[in-house]
This record gives sequence, C-alpha cells and structure tokens, in this order.
Amino acid sequence: MTTYRSSNVLVQLGRAQAELYEHLHADNAGRCPTCRKPETCRKRQELTADILDYGVLPQRRPGIAGGQVFGFGGDHNNSRQHSSPSRS
Ligand SMILES: [Zn+2]
Repeated sequence: MTTYRSSNVLVQLGRAQAELYEHLHADNAGRCPTCRKPETCRKRQELTADILDYGVLPQRRPGIAGGQVFGFGGDHNNSRQHSSPSRS
C-alpha cells in the first residue's frame, strides 16, 4: 500500500510540514513568527489543508473495492493451509 504514494508526493508533504512548522509557534503577542500575523495565519491554514489532502487521499481510494479483494484472497489461502494434515 505504501507504493501507492509516489515519492514525489512524500517530498511535497515533507516540505509542507517543514513550512508549517515555521508558522506554528506564535510569539508572546500571539502572532506568527514568520508572517507577523495573528495566530493561525492564512499560510498555516493553507498548509494544514494541503497536508490533510496528502494524508486523506491514499486512504480514500483503495478503501472499498481493493481492500475486499485482498481480504478474500488471503482468507482463502489460509483456510486451505489450515485444513491440510501437516501436524505430527
Ligand atoms: Zn504564518
């Protein structure tokens, strides 16, 4: 399943997280240290939305059809091996 995410996406996700980190820690006045805007600046909201997109997409796609096909095949193989008289 991890092969579903391209390495390019992971690089972009890493960059977004690193950039978000620069917008997380407000100063004593409650302002973003990078934008100088009040806390939860626009950039932080945009980056958070981007990261959520990256995180949600791979889970949504293979959820319905792919997961059932994989689960069925695995069960079938297991029951066959289990019923074979290989105990001693
Ligand atoms: Zn900011």
